[in-house]
Amino acid sequence: MIHLSFSIAICLFITITTGLIFLIWIFYTHTNYDNITYQTNELSQCPYCTYTFLNYQKGQIQLCPRCHCLIDKNILNKEKDT
Ligand SMILES: [Zn+2]
Repeated sequence: MIHLSFSIAICLFITITTGLIFLIWIFYTHTNYDNITYQTNELSQCPYCTYTFLNYQKGQIQLCPRCHCLIDKNILNKEKDT
């Protein structure tokens, strides 16, 4: 039978818990890296406050992170063309 003192048991519990959290973080970061780089290809500028931001949002209507104005994606595309 293995004898464990209370302090060693607490130490093992904290080590194993921290290791599991670290492994989950590595797995989450590794699996989502390709999706993040794919989604950040589009750089947008708000036509109202001229704030430039990476556009992570999908859909026709975008939200400016600074002034929280709703921006139609067609307006963003027209300003990029001109
Ligand atoms: Zn804005």
